[in-house]
Order: sequence, then structure tokens, then C-alpha cells
Amino acid sequence: MQQYKMWINGKWVGAESGRTYPVVNPANEEVIAEVPLGDRADVDKAVAAARRAFPVWSQKTQAERSRIVSRIAAALGERLEEVARIEMLDHGAPINAARGMHVGGSVENLEYAAQVSRVLMGSAVPVNPAALTYIQREPVGVCALITPWNFPLLMVAWKLGFALAAGNTCVIKPPSIDSLSTLKLAEVLESVDLPPGTVNVITGPGGTVGEALASHPGVDKIAFTGSCDTGKDIMACASRSVKRVGLELGGKNPFIVLPDADIDAAVEGGVFASFCNSGMICASPGRYYVHESIHDEFVEKFVAAAGKIVVGDPASEKTQMGPLVSAEHRDKVEGYIRSGVAEGAKLVLGGKRPAAPPLNKGYFVMPAVFTGVTQDMTIAREEIFGPVVCIMKYLSEDRVVALANDNTFGLCASVWTRDMPKGIRMANEIRAGWVWINEHLMLAPGLPWGGYKESGIGKDGSIHTLDEYTELKVIYADLTGATHKPWHVL
Ligand code: NAP
Repeated sequence: MQQYKMWINGKWVGAESGRTYPVVNPANEEVIAEVPLGDRADVDKAVAAARRAFPVWSQKTQAERSRIVSRIAAALGERLEEVARIEMLDHGAPINAARGMHVGGSVENLEYAAQVSRVLMGSAVPVNPAALTYIQREPVGVCALITPWNFPLLMVAWKLGFALAAGNTCVIKPPSIDSLSTLKLAEVLESVDLPPGTVNVITGPGGTVGEALASHPGVDKIAFTGSCDTGKDIMACASRSVKRVGLELGGKNPFIVLPDADIDAAVEGGVFASFCNSGMICASPGRYYVHESIHDEFVEKFVAAAGKIVVGDPASEKTQMGPLVSAEHRDKVEGYIRSGVAEGAKLVLGGKRPAAPPLNKGYFVMPAVFTGVTQDMTIAREEIFGPVVCIMKYLSEDRVVALANDNTFGLCASVWTRDMPKGIRMANEIRAGWVWINEHLMLAPGLPWGGYKESGIGKDGSIHTLDEYTELKVIYADLTGATHKPWHVL
């Protein structure tokens, strides 16, 4: 079994306490590695290293920083297969998805961040011919990146590329149950000659390591992706020293099917978006609203397609859906399935653990579909974060946007229709950071990802992300040489 170390100040180290914890493969429940159990003392070390590295890293030229981030992307790309296998073993990602969405997506995001930072770090504004006025971006300082387990590496890559390219130094705290790919990334970082302490990776529980970072006086910015409850705690901790906070939180995303929709396309798009990564995607459709005139046909086709999903060993090239990430998370998802049944929804497909070997080991739950769901049910209101689809029938197109907006989250949504002007009208009315029309899940570097309402604050993955990792400074240089300033200037 492999013993991993943390990466602090350019060195591989154990936790100060000497303690470790086991990492479990969710597909077979076997322990695959031991990881250091960090705590506050380790956080202090990592933050001190990042602070020391800040003047060195931030003073490098933009060209050099961008070049090094590009090198990180390239080095990760060279180790794609190795890191994808780690993501498969640790997270349970089917190997094809691990290569593509998880690791391939991380490479793309790092490349993108390196490129756009190169051209967007400042601009001159000719407000007055007698002065030189320009705006420059400066790094925020030490950024703590606290990330979730659903896309363990990708969620780090979304943040790290921009943070580094903009001149910040970082302490990364990956999720406890899925930290191996981030520790592998640290091996990649080691190979590109970053100054010691520029990036540090520290493993350990959110309640101690994460909380210590969120309240640490040496941390200038928290970039967090995870649940809404943790996001609120982090915001409270960060408020004490007015840290910058970026929050990418949960969603309960509406998927609206209008009567004129291409039903086959909506079914195919919905099945993929709902069961990809075992439904553990913030963007996953959480609530289906299907017009009554097409409801039965949609349900019949949806159930047939969902029933064909290949659930199985993540190592198989044929597998489309692997296990849930942990026993604890499987139990939580099963709790939601029980609550759906108890509150009167009809479970028309799946929702059970596979009984036959080999899938009776591991945290598998078969794709589940509920019909007869109503807006007030727990499964229609809360984020399930698993392979569970909730289908509601609606009667009036006039009311469906109000239903879609009736939730505390506002991450994303989709509208399925052949009437594009109507789709666009609805997209304008939906309170969410992203609305697809006849699609649900296509993401790409360059398009800002981030929600409205309790889905978060800030954007990942686009030029706007630079705002998250930089302070804007104006420099106004008077060119007149005049000693006397007129009183009317303001
Ligand atoms: P989580 O429980 O909130 O954990 C996220 C991270 O925060 C983990 O590293 C966790 O450490 C740490 N943490 C836990 N308690 C903390 C505390 N008190 N202070 C500081 N850090 C703390 O979330 P999750 O269950 O891993 O992820 C699922 C959630 O992420 C879902 O709600 C999903 O919608 C959301 N998500 C959102 C986006 C987006 O872009 N909007 C993308 C992906 C996921 P431990 O692992 O040690 O507990």
C-alpha cells in the first residue's frame, strides 16, 4: 500500500503529529493508500512557506509565470494515464471519464489560465492627456484552495492555474476522501521548478485543516468549492480578517422540457447529465419539469434509457457509471430515496444497491428515477448529489419559470424546445449563472462558471476568474510637473 506525503515548502513531509488515515477504493472498499492527517501545526507551516514564496513568485515576469503554468499543464498531460488511474481508484470515476473530463479537463483549464493571464494583466486608460493612467492587476497574496471530492483534480485545476499565473502563492487542501490526485499533481509541480513554497498541498479534515486555513491571518483569499453549509462557515471565518472569498457551491438545477421539445434529444441529454459521475455533479439536473402533454412519453423513454446505463467496475472501458464516492455519501443518497418514497413520489426505476457480485461490494446505487414528484418534497428542494432523477409534471408554461426559480440555489438550468425565441426568453427569466438551451452539461474553458443566490460568489474558468485572484490597482502619474493643484479636480 502506498504511503503518501504532503507537499510543503518544496518538500515531501508527513503530518507534524505523525498520524495518517486510510484511503478507500469506493468500487471495492479496499484500502489503497495512507495519507498524512494534517492539522493546525501543518497549516501554519504551509502558510508560512507560501508567505515566504510570495515575493519571489509574484516578482517573476508575467511571461515567466504563464510559461511555468503552461509547463504544469504539459507535464500533467504527459502523466494523464497515470493520474487518470489514480482518479479511478480513489474516486471511482470510470476510466474513460477519468481520462477525459477529470484529467484531460484539468490540463485544458491550466493551459487556458496560462494563456489568458498573459494578455489581461493590465491596461492604460487615457483619462487625461496630462497624466499617464493605468490599471494593473496585482496578486492577492496567499490563496487557500479548498476543494471537493466530486471532481478532485479538476476543481483544483480550475483555481490553481489562475491563482498561480496571476502571481499568488497557494496552499491547497484537497478533500479528505479523494486527495490522491492532488498529491500526484504536487509531483507534477515538483518537476517544473516552482520556487519552494509557491504551492503547498496539505491533507487532513475540513473541520481542522480547512477551518484553520479559512481563519488564518496569513491567508489573503479562500477559493472554495463544496457544499453550501461549508461555504457559509468559511465565509464566517474569513470575515474576521476580511479575506477575499470565492465560493462555488451547490445546485438544484431545473431541466425544463417544453411541449414542442425534441423528446429523444431531451432524454439523451438528461440521462447523460443526471448519471454522469454517478450524479455527483453540481450542474446535474436536480428537478425535471416536463409538460403534461409529453410527460408520459418522456418518462417512458427516460426510464428505458436510464435502465441501459452500464454500471460497473470503473476500470472497464465500457463502464458508464461507477460507485458513489463513500459509504457515508451512499447512505445520504439512500436517505433521500427513502424520503422520496415516504413523501409519496413513485420510484419507477432503480435506487437499490446491486445484489449480485462483484457490485455488491463497493458503494454502488443503481440509477433511480422518481415520478409524481411535487415542488414541496424534500427530493425536489434539496441537492441529492447522486444518481437520482426527480420528474415533475407541469401544466402551464407561464408558471414553469416561477417553479424553476423557486429554490434557494441558482447554479444552472436547461430549457428544451424547438422554439428558440421562447427558449431564450425563458433563459433570460431564469435566475441562474448558466442556462443551456437543448443541452445540459457542456462546459468549456472560457465560459464563466458560478451561480446566483446560495450557489455561490464568483466565477471559475474564464477571463473573469482573473478578478478572483487579483487586486486592481490604478496608477495615476501626473505629467505636468505643476506644483499647484486646482481645487476643482474632484
Ligand atoms: P464539502 O463537504 O463542503 O467539502 C468541500 C471541502 O471543504 C473539502 O475539502 C472539505 O474537507 C472542506 N471542509 C469541510 N468542512 C470545512 C470547514 N468547516 N472549513 C473549511 N473547509 C471545510 O463538500 P463536498 O461534499 O466535498 O462536495 C460536494 C458539494 O460541492 C456539493 O454541494 C456540490 O454541489 C458542490 N460543488 C460545487 C461546484 C460548483 O462549481 N458550484 C463544483 C463541484 C462541487 P473534508 O473533505 O476533509 O471534509
